[in-house]
Amino acid sequence: MDIAVIGTGYVGLVTGACLAELGHRVVCMDRDKEKISLLNNGVIPIYEKGLDELVARNVAAGRLRFTDRMIEAIRGAEAVFLAVGTPTAADGGAELSMIFEAAEQIAMVMESPLILIQKSTCPVGTSVEIERRVAAVLAKRGVQIPFHVVVNPEFLREGTAVTDFMQPDRVVIGADTAEVGERVAMLYEKIVPKERILLMDRASAEMTKYAANAFLATKISFINEIANLCELVGADIESVRRGIGTDTRIGPAFLAAGIGYGGSCFPKDVKALIKTGKDAGYQLRILESVDEVNRQQRIRQVEKVIQHFGGSLEGKRIAVWGLAFKPGTDDMREAPAIDVIHCLLREGAEVVAYDPIAMPQAQRVLDQRVRYASDALSCVDGADAVLLLTEWPEFLGLDLHLVAQKMATPVLFDFRNGFSPNRAYEAGLTYIGVGRKTKV
Ligand code: NAD
Repeated sequence: MDIAVIGTGYVGLVTGACLAELGHRVVCMDRDKEKISLLNNGVIPIYEKGLDELVARNVAAGRLRFTDRMIEAIRGAEAVFLAVGTPTAADGGAELSMIFEAAEQIAMVMESPLILIQKSTCPVGTSVEIERRVAAVLAKRGVQIPFHVVVNPEFLREGTAVTDFMQPDRVVIGADTAEVGERVAMLYEKIVPKERILLMDRASAEMTKYAANAFLATKISFINEIANLCELVGADIESVRRGIGTDTRIGPAFLAAGIGYGGSCFPKDVKALIKTGKDAGYQLRILESVDEVNRQQRIRQVEKVIQHFGGSLEGKRIAVWGLAFKPGTDDMREAPAIDVIHCLLREGAEVVAYDPIAMPQAQRVLDQRVRYASDALSCVDGADAVLLLTEWPEFLGLDLHLVAQKMATPVLFDFRNGFSPNRAYEAGLTYIGVGRKTKV
């Protein structure tokens, strides 16, 4: 098939490259000229495992191209994926101006029948509104070109995006007719058995994506609340987690206690679903708490650091391991590190940070006063404490004896529960995790 992908970010670029790998002819379009110019020069603007080879291979095979011009992207295309951002708007809902703008730009230049595939995460009703706007532009142009809007939310995770796209648990397709749904389903035939392609109406497909993210965020806030209680009553969250995660009705995924969730999806999608509820006259009480617990979780961890140093961080050198919102990505959107570092600086601490991948992105969003180390060990040199904020394997494999030796006062705040407290203790570190005893 000839396919266009509008929006060449984390989702659009992975979608485009993977569809090309499956044999389709794909043009990825973005309004960001710099991004397109980088891609046309063989530079991948984001960090995502396996993506550089995948892009290079498909560009070389002539199946994948990049452009900043809409008309060039959709010329000859049968299907167009909309993968632009839908960030949080001022009212907490999803900001839909970019997806509406992209759809209208398509309508202004399309010459032949098209299936518009809404891949961006958008609230219920967005696909109908896109349909209305495209029809209005076509009417204004005085042309009659058949088109459909299909909802096909994306469930990939940054860090494992290529594998997630190529081996999805399921594919959700929301369409207004079975026939058009089947046509979009054909795109996924090679990667997922038919019974795991879930055809449904568009509103349900839009809701499915939010419900999935909201549920996963709920698991994280739930386990963090239990962890906080463990700290107060002397239980160990890692034992509790094993104890409940092995129950097949519960399962082990997304039950890691820590500093809370971040990233470009969970925070914004939870908020957007709360807003959808409000607009419909329904208060989503659980999700309001999920959001609030997550916000508090970051503050709570910084308070532990302040308390450890007797109420003030004035003049303390704090090392920070990890800046990205999770390992495997350079994405800093809503990363807990942003809030944590902000609080540390406000309390008078000196902050030295290291992240194996995300430092260039981090420098754009963090305070100028943050210093950056060249590796994990030099980061802790002379530090009064080190905070693990992103559980990159590189940190977890460090020789903790060496770490302890380099520090002014050997204190490890393990805000991802990545280390064994005993291992830290044996290395001479004071260990403070989330919901764990300092020594088990
Ligand atoms: P992103 O910010 O990385 O990429 C969006 C791109 O769209 C940007 O490059 C931007 O320049 C471009 N863009 C915006 N308006 C445009 C327009 N009118 N024409 C052309 N290009 C335009 O965003 P992302 O992380 O890829 O997310 C995209 C969507 O996918 C969001 O709705 C998000 O919620 C959803 N999603 C993201 C993930 C994820 O892990 N990042 C996973 C699943 C779903």
